[in-house]
Amino acid sequence: MFFHRDKTVIRQRSEHCISRANIDPDALKVLYRLANTGHTAFLVGGSVRDLLLGRQPKDFDVGTDARPNDIRRLFRNCFLIGRRFRLAHIVFGKKVIETSTFRRQPDENESEDGLYQTEDNTFGTPKEDAKRRDFTVNGLFYDIKTFSVIDYVGGLRDLEKKVLRCIGDPDIRFREDPVRMMRAVKFTARLGFTLDRSARKAILKHHADITKASVPRVCEEIFRLFTFSSSSAAFRLMWEFKLLSDILPEISAFIDRSGKDTSPVWSYLHAMDNDPASADCTNGVRMAVFFYPMFAERVRQEEAATPNFRVNRQHLARTVLEPIAEHLHVPKATFFTAAALLDLHRRLSESPKKGRSHRFFYHPIFPEALTFHRIILTAEGGDTTVLKEWEELYEQEVGRREAARQAAAENGDEDTPRDEEPLEPRRRRHHRRRFPDQGEGAPSNPQQTSAPDANAPLPASGEPRPITVSEVPAPVAMPTSANACE
Ligand code: ATP
Ligand code: MG
Repeated sequence: MFFHRDKTVIRQRSEHCISRANIDPDALKVLYRLANTGHTAFLVGGSVRDLLLGRQPKDFDVGTDARPNDIRRLFRNCFLIGRRFRLAHIVFGKKVIETSTFRRQPDENESEDGLYQTEDNTFGTPKEDAKRRDFTVNGLFYDIKTFSVIDYVGGLRDLEKKVLRCIGDPDIRFREDPVRMMRAVKFTARLGFTLDRSARKAILKHHADITKASVPRVCEEIFRLFTFSSSSAAFRLMWEFKLLSDILPEISAFIDRSGKDTSPVWSYLHAMDNDPASADCTNGVRMAVFFYPMFAERVRQEEAATPNFRVNRQHLARTVLEPIAEHLHVPKATFFTAAALLDLHRRLSESPKKGRSHRFFYHPIFPEALTFHRIILTAEGGDTTVLKEWEELYEQEVGRREAARQAAAENGDEDTPRDEEPLEPRRRRHHRRRFPDQGEGAPSNPQQTSAPDANAPLPASGEPRPITVSEVPAPVAMPTSANACE
């Protein structure tokens, strides 16, 4: 069935569009040093795919026949990570060029739970390395010696046809690693490709296996679905393939009862995808936007049930988000930001010129609240007059602080005064994690930090909340975190 895909295709430099000018200079350094010391050195994976599509790659990975210890000897800035399969992280400032020795598909074991792989150091040939990868368009290599593209898996043809196809039998590949089903959804949505029919059938058959995957990996992939302005398409596929009902049953049920294809969830995600700040949204904003329609439904229900009381939005926000955050091990910072955004964003409906409402401007969550509020208004087609007042105020303040910083720099005064700190989303300090087999202080991989915005998961069991819904009568001020901060 997959015979015709075994033919190796080599495209010479004149037959493809990859130019070294578009390759990260540090990745080039790694490739050249490996090649100049007699090793095979390829650019591999997503970077080759993206370069061929004319897209900017997120990161550049290298594949080589050099063994991990050889790589370490060649690069002083190299850290070996991974217990079973050793990967080299070659570090340039904050950037990491992940360099791995060609390996073959690990042995499979059949258990009652399905197939699983043992991740031992099973080095292999470049062809074997291509075949162990997930999708044909992710299995392409760029050879630094000949500047040619090497295709062992039929990826070039699929790139041209814009088809996402598994390498090998999807029934087996998705059972080996169920996270590949989420990756299939992610790439299909991000690249605007069509998912191959056999892969679609296999996901519909094996979607429930996603519950067997490691929770942190699933959580990381969930937040990746929000990236590249394709969250609406990605979550729609997640819902269609029933992966959403396995991982996030609450939101899947809400989509079903709120119109399915016409559920408001899609319009809020669509508004976020098209927002000018879409690429820079924090995971807190993303989580708040995704769950906003569910939260708004709960607020409406509470208001109808207790018309004489002001609804405790903070409590409701936590009630909606907490089970999800616990179940998926969402980092605490993301959860608290999302809950605060749901609770506080209404403050931006009041003009900053009115009373003391401008004081919200000094709240640490303000920049995220502004983005969140803009997305909600866009989705609902609301009046943006007041929003523009807040945006103007924010731009003026950012400009004033920038000018003050420049003036200080010109005067040789590098220390920024405390009240001149930039108005950027708050970044919580968190303890640096140790790499599994490294000493302290090892640099972090941007591929990993691109995922959730802090590391600590929620505690396994939720603490009882002191405040209950609707307990605060209307005339009394709400005890919000924003009040506390003022
Ligand atoms: P992105 O632009 O999101 O980084 P990518 O294709 O580079 O996309 P990565 O997660 O960085 O994706 O993985 C790099 C490469 O490793 C992939 O292109 C693919 O070849 C291989 N790969 C990653 N995860 C898997 C997996 N679960 N199974 C098989 N191969 C995988
Ligand atoms: Mg990558």
